[in-house]
Amino acid sequence: MSRKKISEKEIKLLCLRSGGMCAFHNCSQSLVQEGTELDDSVVTGEIAHIVAYESDGPRGDDSFPEEERNKHTNLVLLCRDHHRLVDAQWRTYGVPVLHAMKQAHEEKIRALNKQDTDSPEAMIQDSLHSSLLAVSHLPAFVFSAPTGYGDREDGEVKMALHYPFDKWELTPFILKESRLYTFHDLRKSNNPFRSVSSSSDIQMIPAQELWESAEGKRRYQTLLNRSLYKFTSRLSMQYDPKHYRYFFPAINDTEERSVTYRPPNQRRSDRKVAWPQRRKDTGELKNLWIHLATSLRFHEVAPLQWCLSIRPERHFTSDGKMPLPSKQIGPRSTQLKARMYNDLYLNEVHFWRDYLSSGKPQIILNFGSQSAVVSTAQLLTFDIDWPGVAGDVKPFKNQVYTHDLFSYSELMQVLDGEEEGYEEINDELDEI
Ligand SMILES: [Zn+2]
Repeated sequence: MSRKKISEKEIKLLCLRSGGMCAFHNCSQSLVQEGTELDDSVVTGEIAHIVAYESDGPRGDDSFPEEERNKHTNLVLLCRDHHRLVDAQWRTYGVPVLHAMKQAHEEKIRALNKQDTDSPEAMIQDSLHSSLLAVSHLPAFVFSAPTGYGDREDGEVKMALHYPFDKWELTPFILKESRLYTFHDLRKSNNPFRSVSSSSDIQMIPAQELWESAEGKRRYQTLLNRSLYKFTSRLSMQYDPKHYRYFFPAINDTEERSVTYRPPNQRRSDRKVAWPQRRKDTGELKNLWIHLATSLRFHEVAPLQWCLSIRPERHFTSDGKMPLPSKQIGPRSTQLKARMYNDLYLNEVHFWRDYLSSGKPQIILNFGSQSAVVSTAQLLTFDIDWPGVAGDVKPFKNQVYTHDLFSYSELMQVLDGEEEGYEEINDELDEI
């Protein structure tokens, strides 16, 4: 295949959207020189392909249409060093990771441009520091059937559900316009929803069909996000609906809680996850408890590229149970600021990655005959706040999780257990 040149229009679009800066996290090197009286402006940076132009290039993919390869949506502006890095370490910087990086960077540029024109108040932008894990496998179908339950009767449906014997089998569902939507195969006579939905007029909707409309995509995303309620509760966590986050409650509402996890390059150890604060001088209790918390959400970062974002946070209570009024805390202080506490932040992300996956290279969300698999092997942290202050960002050694025999066979079991036709969309997602 002879390599076609990227059109002027696509280059302009790319440079405009990336603000002429390297899109690599925390680099922001300026790569476009303004024109002079004698010369046109010039791009001194490099344009990297997310999916390579050539099929055998870094992240090359035969199935990716040739005419899409030179579009700005498949391109990312990088400085020379970072272009080399992402092409040399193409396993680490896979397609979903580069898409997420590009999206975070372009959002940051949009926010900066907005601040130039908006009132001073808009200068205090909510910062979003989050770390992304690539989703490597998703349910190929959503099932839908008529139900007698109304849109808001989730509680009633939960009471009438036949919960699966396997406590890790998750049963997220949505009620909409007298129909129930779920990843569970409603054609099976023993499905968990058999008492709450009709066995006639069952629809089997391909995920890709749903993703074509904004509403369909939202429903799919909601099902994925709702599966995290039960998943995290199996890991002793609770949901705080006011702040859309999961936290560790005190044991019996009153006692300190610890869990075990494996810190980078160390043995498993205990970590306090809910504990009361004491005055340093007197040791007296302060009426303040700190609970480790995290915001977890599924996002589609590019067509067919889904990620799970982990954002470490804090939950505060006065006595282990009663949430502190948010007035007293300020909404922002419950988010850890990556820029200020980079090491702390990354350790925290590592903690969640390890805890949620039980130290394995993947998190498996099991929906009976289908499943979602989140790979924990790759981790990138994004900061779409202001660019970091020079000198306060320390490099983080990303610890690669490899499959051991057990976790590999567990994954194969999940993939093998699925019926024919289920693999199709997942072939288009990245391989683990
Ligand atoms: Zn760079």
